[in-house]
Amino acid sequence: MPCWSWPETVAAADSDKGRDCSGQRPLTELPGVGPQVAARLKALGLACELDLLFHLPLRYEDRTRITPLNRVRPNTTVQVQGRIVHQEVRHARSRMLLATLADDSGQVMLRYFRFFPSQLRQLREGAQVRCFGEARFGPAGFELIHPQVVSLGRDGGPPLPESLTPVYPTTQGLGQANLARLVGEAVKRLQRGEIRLQDPLPPTAAGPALDQALLTIHAPGPNEDLAALIDGHHPAVQRLALEELLAHHLALSRLNQARARQRAPSLVDEKGLGKRLLASLPFKPTGAQHRVTAEILADLKRQRPMRRLLQGDVGSGKTLVAACALVVAVASGRQAAIIAPTEILAEQHFRTLTAWLQPLGLNLVWLAGKVKGKARRQALEALAGSADIAVGTHALFQAGVAFRDLGLIVVDEQHRFGVHQRLALTAKGQRGRLLPHQLVMTATPIPRTLAMTAYAGLDVSVIDELPPGRKPVTTVAASQSRREQVVERLRAALAEGRQAYWVCPLIEESDLLQAEAAETRSAELARSLPECRVGLIHGRMKPADKQQVMEGFSAGRIHLLVATTVIEVGVDVPNASLMMIENAERLGLSQLHQLRGRVGRGSDQAACVLLYRPPLGDMARARLEVMRETTDGFVIAEKDLELRGPGEVLGTRQTGMLRFRIADLARDAELLEPVQTLAGRLDPGAGSLIIDRWLGQAEQFVDV
Ligand code: ADP
Ligand code: MG
Repeated sequence: MPCWSWPETVAAADSDKGRDCSGQRPLTELPGVGPQVAARLKALGLACELDLLFHLPLRYEDRTRITPLNRVRPNTTVQVQGRIVHQEVRHARSRMLLATLADDSGQVMLRYFRFFPSQLRQLREGAQVRCFGEARFGPAGFELIHPQVVSLGRDGGPPLPESLTPVYPTTQGLGQANLARLVGEAVKRLQRGEIRLQDPLPPTAAGPALDQALLTIHAPGPNEDLAALIDGHHPAVQRLALEELLAHHLALSRLNQARARQRAPSLVDEKGLGKRLLASLPFKPTGAQHRVTAEILADLKRQRPMRRLLQGDVGSGKTLVAACALVVAVASGRQAAIIAPTEILAEQHFRTLTAWLQPLGLNLVWLAGKVKGKARRQALEALAGSADIAVGTHALFQAGVAFRDLGLIVVDEQHRFGVHQRLALTAKGQRGRLLPHQLVMTATPIPRTLAMTAYAGLDVSVIDELPPGRKPVTTVAASQSRREQVVERLRAALAEGRQAYWVCPLIEESDLLQAEAAETRSAELARSLPECRVGLIHGRMKPADKQQVMEGFSAGRIHLLVATTVIEVGVDVPNASLMMIENAERLGLSQLHQLRGRVGRGSDQAACVLLYRPPLGDMARARLEVMRETTDGFVIAEKDLELRGPGEVLGTRQTGMLRFRIADLARDAELLEPVQTLAGRLDPGAGSLIIDRWLGQAEQFVDV
C-alpha cells in the first residue's frame, strides 16, 4: 500500500526558475543521461545530482518474497512465480492477452488489455516467469491485471532483493527502472562520501542526520522497521518531513513579507449597489453568506490586494457572495472578472449574473474560447472599454485580452486552475503598482488541518450553512445487476414530474470514450423509458448544443439528463431531485460529493443511487459507505484525507497548491510546532538553503 501517495506521474514543473546548481554535477554528466532524459528529469524538477537525492520514493514494493499461488488474496500486491501453462489471445471488444500461470499450489490468470508481440513470446506456454502485480478476483478466479514480468530461464532468475524496492514519482517517457538507477547511483555516491550534504538543522532537532535519513529512505536495509517506513512514522521519514515542512514554512513567511508591500485599489460600494441587489432577490441571504460577504468587503476596502479563499459546500450559495463582491468593484468605477473552469459552468454564471445585475444597469460581457470573429472583437472592445463585468472561461487569461481597469478577479472552482493561469490574469489587472484583488471559490471542502498550509497565504472564509429548507440527499448503493429495478423506480419518479440525472461510467480518462458511453446509455434509457424525454450532455458537444440541452433541462422539457462528469461542478437545476451514478466505485469521494450536490437543491426529498460493479475493493467499499452515511462536505473531506492522503484530496496535479514529497499533513501534524520553533532559530542563509533544496524549482510559491 502507498505510504504517501500522489499521482505517479507528476505534472511538469514548467517554471524555469532554476535552482543554484553551482559546484554540483549537472545531470547530463551522469552515464546514460542524454539530452532527452535530461529534459524529462527537468520536467520532474531535477537539475543536478543533489536533486536526485531529494527525489523521494512515493511508495515501496515488497519484492522480497514469492507468494505461493494458493495464498494469493484479492486486492493485494503480490509477487508470484511459476510456469505458463496456457496462453490465449481473446477478441472481445478489443484484443486481450490471457495467460495462465501455475505453481505447485495453484493457478492464477494474467490479463493484458494492451500488449506487445514480445509479451506473447515472453508468456508462451512452458515459460518460467516471475510476476509482480495486484491480484483481483476475476471471472475465472484470481487474476493479475498487467503484471510486470521477469523471465526466469534455467538459472532461476535474479535473486530476490533483501529489502523493499522504492518506487519513484516519474513522468511520461522516463521509465521507473531508469529513474531508480539514477537515484541509486546518487545514493551510492552519498554513501561513499562523494556527495556532501549540508545539514543546517541542529543535531538535536530530530532523529537521524540528513544523509543517514536519505540513505534509509532510498535504500532501506533488511533490518529496518519496514512497517514504520511505509506508514511514515520511521525516524528517517520524520526527519525529512520536518525539513520539508520547515522549507514550506520559511518560504511562506518570506512570501507574506513580500506581499505586505503590495498595493491594490481600495474598493467601496458608495452607490449602495449591493443593497439594491439583495433587495431584488426572491430570498434572503443566510447568516453565513452575510458574514463571509462582510469579510470580503472589508478586504476590498483595504489598499492591499485581497487574496481570499471562499470555501462553501455545493449549493451553499457562493455565487451570490461573488456577485456582492463584483458589484463593489463596479460601484468603485472598476471592472471585475469571474472565471470558471468549464464552459457550462461559466455560462451558468453568465445567465445568473445577467439576471441579477443587468437590472441594476451593469454591463456584462461573455468570453469563452469558442467566441470567435465579430462576437469576439465586440467582446474585446467592451472589455477594453464599457464592460463592467467579464464572465468567462480561461479565454479571459489569453493574450489579446485587455481590460480597461480590472479591480477584482473571482475564480470559481479554483482547484481546476493552475497557478500560472491565475498569474496571467493578475498581470492583466496590474496598473502600475496596483494589483487586482482576488477571490477564489471552491466547493472542495479542504479539511481544516490542511486549509492554512494548502492555500499558501490565502485568507479563508467558510460558508458553513446551507440555504433553508434543504433536506439531506438520501443515498443508497446498488449493484449494477439491479439496474433494471433502478430504471423502474426512475420511471415512477419521472411520472410524478420529477427530473433526474444519470451520470455515466467513467471507463477511461478519454473524453471520447466517455462521450460514447453516455451516448449508448442515453439511447438505451430512451428505449426503456419511451414516455420520457431523455437528454444527453457531454464534453465533446458543441457549446451551443450543450446550452440548448441545459436550457431544456432547466425548463423541464427534458426529464432525464444523461451526462458524463461534465456536470460535476456548478450545474444548478433545483427541480432535479434524483441522481443515478454508474460505476460509482471508480470515483473518488470528493467527485461523488460534487456530483451528488447537483440534487437536493429544491423542496423535494432528493435521492442518489450509487451503482457499482462488484466485487468491491476495500477502499471502494469504504468510500460508498461514507457517501451513504453523510452529506456533510467537511466530514467527507476528512474521510477522503484518511483514505487517500492529502496529495490526492487536493488533486495536486492541476492545483498549484502545495505538493509534498514526503510530509503528510494528516500524519505529521505534531511536527508543525517544532517547525515554528526551528524557523525562529535558523539564520537566513540556512533558511535559503532549505527552501532551495525542497522548493527550488517548485511553482507553488509563485506570488499570485
Ligand atoms: P454554490 O455554492 O454551489 O455555487 P449556488 O451559488 O449555485 O451554490 O447556489 C445554489 C442555489 O441556491 C442557487 O439556486 C441559488 O440561487 C440558491 N440560493 C443561494 N443563496 C440562497 C439563499 N440565501 N436562500 C435560498 N436560496 C439561495
Ligand atoms: Mg457554484
